[in-house]
Amino acid sequence: MSNILVIAEHANGQLNNSTARAVACAKAIGGEVTVLALTASGDEVATAAATIAGVSNVINLQDVSNGHALAATQAPQIAAIADGYSHVLAPNSTFGKDLMPRVAALMDAPMVTDIMAVHDARTFDRPVYAGNAITTVKVPDSVAVVATVRCASWAPEAGEQAAAAVESSANSAALPTHTRFVGLVSEQGDRPDLQAADRVVSGGRGLGAAEHFALVEGLADKLGAAVGASRAAVDSGWVPNDLQVGQTGKIIAPELYIAAGISGAIQHLAGIKDAGTIVAINKDPDAPIFEVADIGLVADLHQVLPELTNAL
Ligand SMILES: Cc1cc2nc3c(=O)[nH]c(=O)nc-3n(C[C@H](O)[C@H](O)[C@H](O)COP(=O)(O)OP(=O)(O)OC[C@H]3O[C@@H](n4cnc5c(N)ncnc54)[C@H](O)[C@@H]3O)c2cc1C
Repeated sequence: MSNILVIAEHANGQLNNSTARAVACAKAIGGEVTVLALTASGDEVATAAATIAGVSNVINLQDVSNGHALAATQAPQIAAIADGYSHVLAPNSTFGKDLMPRVAALMDAPMVTDIMAVHDARTFDRPVYAGNAITTVKVPDSVAVVATVRCASWAPEAGEQAAAAVESSANSAALPTHTRFVGLVSEQGDRPDLQAADRVVSGGRGLGAAEHFALVEGLADKLGAAVGASRAAVDSGWVPNDLQVGQTGKIIAPELYIAAGISGAIQHLAGIKDAGTIVAINKDPDAPIFEVADIGLVADLHQVLPELTNAL
């Protein structure tokens, strides 16, 4: 039977829901699911992880170095504790993408990225060519499966379970000193995290100017949504690049995705393949975004976005 270790993603004492998505993948593999929370102090993250449906137990590994998530110092802690586990999984967010290759190297195991479907405990589907093709890969029996889970492919199970057992642990690994935390520069805001949000409103080149992004933000705030953007909007310098949705941006799976002034280039669509309802607002009736949209509005966004926002 598989014995699966899922690395919790968290920030500011809050568990990111990408962890529950990784647990959903672990459940599809089958077996015991242990969540590992790497924290500096406190037990909020571990306690929250313990209520994710399907979690068998939680390890709260506390070390002062975990005050800021650094892949260089967290990977050795994971590798030291992962001995005996058949699988080590993390979300495919920037957190997991940074961390898991180091874990794989330390465990002398191959690395599987972006698991989107499970055939059996060692055989997985993963996307290639921006999601236009899918490969099936098999990990040899002789090594652990070290992998990132494509969050957009796995919905967290609804509801919570009675809390699983939480065990405290201390770090036993020697940590490198070549990498240290210097500072964090991040956008402060009350909007939801783009990768975890249930609703996203995105703007593209059709907005015409940076100041017009306020139209997208206004609608997003009315909906409690995150804000996203096409690469054209990012490259124009209208919004920071962490808002980019698509092949070279964020792959997201919100329940509602509203694209305003976005043509629907294949590289953008690669980021929203798993979105629930797609709404497109575009003044060109032949824009490719209408081929994937559930609801399409052929209209000028400068007129429609304020109207929608006011109506809400
Ligand atoms: C290797 C590679 C990776 C890439 N990765 C990404 C990626 O991750 N994400 C991404 O988004 N792109 C990516 N791109 C770029 C992608 O090919 C497109 O160039 C980009 O998505 C276009 O952005 P857009 O839809 O905002 O702009 P455009 O294609 O210029 O479309 C603007 C749309 O706005 C509409 N419009 C104009 N005015 C209005 C108005 N007043 N009201 C309503 N509609 C209006 C137009 O009809 C048009 O359809 C990548 C490209 C390459 C080559």
